[in-house]
Amino acid sequence: MQAEGAAAANVLVEVKDLRTYFELTEGTVRAVDGVSFSIQRARTLGVVGESGCGKSVTARSIMNMIRKPGRIAGGQILYYRRRNGSSGSTEQVIDLVQLPPMGPEMRAIRGGEFAMIFQEPKASFSPVHTVGSQIIEAIMLHQNVGRLEARERAVEMLRRVNIPNPEERIEAYPHQLSGGMCQRAMIALALSCRPDLLIADEPTTALDVTTEAQILDLIRELQETYHTAVMYITHNLAVLAEIADEVVVMYMGKLVEVADREALLARPLHPYTEALLSAVPVPDPRRRRTRLVLEGEVPDPANPSPGCPFHPRCRYAQDMCSREEPPLRAMPGGRTVACHLAEQLELAGALRPARAADGQG
Ligand code: SF4
Repeated sequence: MQAEGAAAANVLVEVKDLRTYFELTEGTVRAVDGVSFSIQRARTLGVVGESGCGKSVTARSIMNMIRKPGRIAGGQILYYRRRNGSSGSTEQVIDLVQLPPMGPEMRAIRGGEFAMIFQEPKASFSPVHTVGSQIIEAIMLHQNVGRLEARERAVEMLRRVNIPNPEERIEAYPHQLSGGMCQRAMIALALSCRPDLLIADEPTTALDVTTEAQILDLIRELQETYHTAVMYITHNLAVLAEIADEVVVMYMGKLVEVADREALLARPLHPYTEALLSAVPVPDPRRRRTRLVLEGEVPDPANPSPGCPFHPRCRYAQDMCSREEPPLRAMPGGRTVACHLAEQLELAGALRPARAADGQG
């Protein structure tokens, strides 16, 4: 983890006590419930958890894309906008929660300064326009350049994401591209306006392993070139082991652990993180490891039980866990965790065998 002062100076987005709720007939679902974290400039924050844990809703809250019956019920999303001008660098702090979602300022940020890529790229492109024309329109809208220059930039961007014959492919419709190619085109669209933040929501889940590796390489390479901050959302910690600098683990709308990638992989502090890590392949075949299968279902989010949200599935749970909810608290090394027993438990990371494999679990 970076030194606190340096990290604070590099903060691009600060999410503070974010609460995003959905009013359904069965009750209020607290999809995101008091979440706080920071995204640093030019670094990759990984967000991991099972589906329904609130990671995508957190991303959509940052993009101010929550629609009814959802609403941001509280908290702040501070965007530290930095601009370089002739008189030097200026910084402006904008609370995105306060901006009307469809107002001009939010629309300029969304798609310009912040961009998002999704699991299903074909759903992001209009099927009736060519891929190129959609990239050109985005560049013209957000970068105030003419069509000719926008087209040149679009071709260059398609080349940067390794699309062959970009001068020809710019005329292709989304359905004429393969899944991997379309995903590259969506990355080109997202990065064509040189965003400060790229939110990637499970962008490789629908792809085969080889294409996934290529897309991860591409995101990493483009991040280095453009110094873009990346928020990478996935259910798969193995992906974050490849790409993330810091990792946030979410469970039932809350953060349960936040740590640097290496520290988290070597020694998780939360039993849920340990279970997610047990699914990460170990590079050394001599090491035996048992996958920890999470028993039970994720509790009904409209009717959560008291105590630790993870206690119905936790193999280390004790009496107090079903009575008292553990707060998210600071631990040595700049880490945070929400577990009553974090100091006592010796959990297995991805770099050494799991307890169960040693016969101790
Ligand atoms: Fe498990 Fe208890 Fe820690 Fe929750 S507080 S993760 S139930 S040990």
